[in-house]
Amino acid sequence: MTRASDLIATEHRLGAHNYKPLDVVLTRGEGVHVWDTEGKRYLDCLSAYSAVNQGHCHPKIREAMIEQAGKLTLTSRAFRNDQLAHLYEELAALTGSHKILPMNSGAEAVETAIKAVRKWGYEVKGVAENQAEIIVCADNFHGRTMGIVGFSTDPDARTGFGPFAPGFRVVPFGDLKAFEAAITPNTVAALIEPIQGEAGVIIPPKGYLPGVRALCTQHNVTLILDEIQTGLGRTGKLLAEEHEGIEADVTLIGKALSGGFYPVSAVLSNSEVLGVLKPGQHGSTFGGNPLACAVARAALKVLTEEGMIENSARMGERFLEGLRSIRSNVVKEVRGRGLMLAIELDPAAGGARPYCYQLKDRGLLAKDTHEHTIRLAPPLIITPDQVDWAVEQIAAVL
Ligand SMILES: *Cc1c(COP(=O)(O)O)cnc(C)c1O
Repeated sequence: MTRASDLIATEHRLGAHNYKPLDVVLTRGEGVHVWDTEGKRYLDCLSAYSAVNQGHCHPKIREAMIEQAGKLTLTSRAFRNDQLAHLYEELAALTGSHKILPMNSGAEAVETAIKAVRKWGYEVKGVAENQAEIIVCADNFHGRTMGIVGFSTDPDARTGFGPFAPGFRVVPFGDLKAFEAAITPNTVAALIEPIQGEAGVIIPPKGYLPGVRALCTQHNVTLILDEIQTGLGRTGKLLAEEHEGIEADVTLIGKALSGGFYPVSAVLSNSEVLGVLKPGQHGSTFGGNPLACAVARAALKVLTEEGMIENSARMGERFLEGLRSIRSNVVKEVRGRGLMLAIELDPAAGGARPYCYQLKDRGLLAKDTHEHTIRLAPPLIITPDQVDWAVEQIAAVL
């Protein structure tokens, strides 16, 4: 038995089976590449669901992490640390937000936003106690906590986990009429992914998000955009909302906020929403810790200073064009924005997973999603040659 198969067997025996990973055991990463235990190199076209936008083990983020790890890692928010204010300042300058709340995982940022908008609804908007409603979209993905899976429409995500918290209204994604019809005097917020990632890179029709923005303003509804996957350069802009010419009231970021080194997320707000949270009403032992802040500061710095966002736009166009030029009768649709791309296969093709295994054999790692879709999201530092090579491999297997 190889070492990799031993590791897989041990995982299978001792680990909960809540994931079904491709059977490749990785041991090292650098830039767009990862290596398995046998020394085989792969081009990573998932980037840990966009947490590694800056590329694997970016030397400058690593340096910041090691330096901070030798100084101070955790104080809790019972005391202050000398990194948090700098992260606030740099995030505010980058995004224009006025209030920031740091957490760890993406799901925690989502939960934080839900708590804040409910309280805002009662204290500022004047909704009667316990009547707050939040509009969410069908096929959403916002994380895995109890609060969040309660408004998922994916049977795998929710079946068997109830009872769930009330107060959520599900509407079809991309349908402005349905969105408008769901607004009531008790609506405190809408929680939307600007592009639905886990659903298979679903880009809403032109005009949908500006329409949602206008309706939210008109009805005093807080617009929360979950940019945990779309944000920080993935779509070729710092935030995906920029493609739509709109501004959310609350923006959620995570994943690439640490460049893959550490769980760091944040709620960014440009309204009075976060102002309703008073001491003792919300928190996290690790949220805003100095190690997380130092890592996030470095991750943001390299993202902007090394031109990764512009590269995402350019390479995304090249990748999309390459994918669109593939002649194959198993391809139903190719779509994408920036380096957030997907190939939807014809249902008759027998599912995306066998194609992902064939790509793996050719040295390209990609993940199937929702059975028939291959998602492609390489690190934002990918070069033209690497894009062309990826397109060649994909063309060969399709
Ligand atoms: C990944 C993701 C989350 C959840 O983030 P975790 O860090 O896994 O909790 C939430 N929303 C979106 C859009 C995501 O892609």
